[in-house]
Amino acid sequence: MLNDLRRVDKDVYEAVLKEVRREQIDIELIASENYVSMAVLDAQGTVMTNKYAEGYPGRRYYGGCKHVDVVETLAIDRAKELFGAEHANVQPHSGSQANMAAYFALLKPGDRILGMALDQGGHLSHGHPKNFSSKVFDIVRYGVNKETERIDVDEVGAIARKTRPNLIVVGASSYPRAIDFEPFAQIAKDVGAYLMADIAHIAGPVVAGLHPNPVPHCDVVTTTTHKTLRGPRSGIILCKEEHAKKVNSSVFPGIQGGPLMHVIAGKAVAFKEALAPGFKRYQEQILANACALAEELTAQGFRLVTGGTDNHLIVADVRPHKVNGIQATRILERIGITVNNNQIPFDPLPPTKSSGIRMGTAAMTTRGMTEPEMKQLGHIIASAMVHSDDSVRLRLLREETLDLADRFPVYPGILRRLYEQERSAYA
Ligand SMILES: *Cc1c(COP(=O)(O)O)cnc(C)c1O
Repeated sequence: MLNDLRRVDKDVYEAVLKEVRREQIDIELIASENYVSMAVLDAQGTVMTNKYAEGYPGRRYYGGCKHVDVVETLAIDRAKELFGAEHANVQPHSGSQANMAAYFALLKPGDRILGMALDQGGHLSHGHPKNFSSKVFDIVRYGVNKETERIDVDEVGAIARKTRPNLIVVGASSYPRAIDFEPFAQIAKDVGAYLMADIAHIAGPVVAGLHPNPVPHCDVVTTTTHKTLRGPRSGIILCKEEHAKKVNSSVFPGIQGGPLMHVIAGKAVAFKEALAPGFKRYQEQILANACALAEELTAQGFRLVTGGTDNHLIVADVRPHKVNGIQATRILERIGITVNNNQIPFDPLPPTKSSGIRMGTAAMTTRGMTEPEMKQLGHIIASAMVHSDDSVRLRLLREETLDLADRFPVYPGILRRLYEQERSAYA
């Protein structure tokens, strides 16, 4: 296993080995991460990385594409089936690239986009000042209601009528509640705007039928493939047939050159896995686990943004435990729990500190954890806050998370085989 890498480049090999180990011994609660299957890893490690395939299946600018065409066609057909979409483009290298291509397909520079503000739950690519989206387009923003901390479609409608955007983006990176796309479609129609949904985080629940599907209501839908969808790190675009040509030419030659065919192979495999019956069960468990973790965190004194969750993620206001988000993140890192600090809506603290942390259950659900482990984790997280100055207590909590991680292996075979191969790397 990894024998050639070990022989040729010890430095990279050892870093990879340590990453395998880190993924095994840490409790991964970053809401945007997951663990792909061995089959997806295999597909990405193939010779398809060698192939230039500019263009689309059957219409390439390079010869020798007959096998990569099979793979890309499978990925396209499976994506369409998963989401019930008329057209799919599986070439975007990432979620941000999918969004960039979608904007350029429907808009011209200077056009106006109405998107959710980052500090209220949106994504950088929805119009953050430092992102290309705000340099190329004229951005107007909506947020959540101050009392409910939820999207208020009446407020969105009022902003849209006042600002007359050319495109409305609906979707978020740290919004714990279900989004109803229908009223957004009505608003877009009223103001003559395109509607785009970005379901990077919630694609898994969407394909499992556990979250409303935006596809029937939107001109375009983008998603990453590596979050709840559990595929390789990448993006896709879904759209109505009428936009298919514009979307395709916006991805290539608009913003990208050759597609990453090995990653597209990984996407095809992940989509097959998502079409299989077990995937719905997996998504149901993600949501059940998020509810269980949310309940325990609430019982342990955290204040949850919106009071709970409808999806895989939770944003917890950590100030009741007398810490800020970055401090909480560092304390949890000491006991082997990985989260990210996150601003809460109307956060009085800057992003570098922030009042909250964001947690998601997709990754640990992949490892087989269920409600009892979520309760245990909620308890551990709160104990770490309470005893953050007590290194003995923190060490005991670290032992507890190590036991948990041991009981739920990530890649059972790999770790043991690598371990036998090179014990010294674990020193
Ligand atoms: C994660 C995310 C993206 C971007 O994904 P990258 O693959 O990191 O570029 C885009 N939109 C939303 C809403 C996201 O949460």
